[in-house]
Amino acid sequence: MQVAAVIVAAGRGTRAGGGLPKQWRALAGKTVAERTLEAFAAHPRIGRIVLVLHPDDIESDLWPAGLPSDVVSGGATRAASVKAGLAVLEGEAELVLIHDIARPLVSADVIDRVIAGLATHDGAAPAVPVTDALWRGEADVVTGTVERAGLYRAQTPQGFDLAKIIAAHDNASEDAADDVQVARQAGIDVAIVAGDTANLKITTSEDFSRAERLLAERNGADAVRVGNGFDVHRFGPGSNVTLCGVDIPFDRGLQGHSDADVAMHTVTDAIYGALAEGDIGQHFPPSDPQWKGAASHIFLEHAVALAAERGFAIGNVDCTIICEVPKIGPHAPAMRARMAEIMGLRADQVGVKATTSERLGFTGRGEGIAALATVTLVRT
Ligand code: MG
Repeated sequence: MQVAAVIVAAGRGTRAGGGLPKQWRALAGKTVAERTLEAFAAHPRIGRIVLVLHPDDIESDLWPAGLPSDVVSGGATRAASVKAGLAVLEGEAELVLIHDIARPLVSADVIDRVIAGLATHDGAAPAVPVTDALWRGEADVVTGTVERAGLYRAQTPQGFDLAKIIAAHDNASEDAADDVQVARQAGIDVAIVAGDTANLKITTSEDFSRAERLLAERNGADAVRVGNGFDVHRFGPGSNVTLCGVDIPFDRGLQGHSDADVAMHTVTDAIYGALAEGDIGQHFPPSDPQWKGAASHIFLEHAVALAAERGFAIGNVDCTIICEVPKIGPHAPAMRARMAEIMGLRADQVGVKATTSERLGFTGRGEGIAALATVTLVRT
């Protein structure tokens, strides 16, 4: 079944402070909108995503243009905005999940449960049972208690049969609290699936703080990664070697399919390793003639981009070059600068050092150069 999503971001809520509507405010380094869209874009069951924006935001550079989504202008009410989003999808999917942009911590599990609920019902929505006692009050005085059995706190995404929710919205009153109410007015049965207390709706600045704590907790077990790399290239005929992107005049060259930059290869492999993404050979097969003689910064840039795509920045790099000759020391500052430039880092995040192997082994005999590297990746 084709599952699409409508993300409603047309509100102007500024109660959370910061001047901007809350969806454009930063939450642990990314905007709320970006985090919400990423949660849906990363889910394997979700196909098309329609982002409903306030008309004033359509031309702005606030929204994350890089993410896969159709963008439409919303209406004066939430219901009108949802309708505008649904209209884009008419006939394009069987199921639709409608989600508030202000719930950026929605998990893949919650999305899964809503989709599973739609196997047996035309509507399904996540909720958590109310556990606090509920009071009525007037002028700060308790005037009664409310029986909490059977009460739920409603969340999004709320999922529906697409054709049925479009028809329901066509006949709905404009002031419905949410899409479940619209569905129920049209006689659609809505299953309650387990929500998640972390799937909070951000409204106030306290909500931002709580969301930041939850994100830190969620990422805590996988906040930092370490990778190692090791590579060897043998000497052959030539007049220079390329190490960390710097050409060093020498009476021989390094042999290899690409430019044989053994040091840059180890750093690249260390990044792939930290991501559990294999090695250079897997991403750039030596059997592919297009990489013959290739400049190795292509590989390194790819690894850094892949890390960014997985939500990681490079924390630091430490690379050790093992050889008797040529002398590395005088070139180390240029190597660090070049590596930092390629990876978008400061030079003080990149260590390049060299050692001999006391004339022992293949490096000691001057047959080639070995290099090893360690990198840390830090979740952004
Ligand atoms: Mg290599």
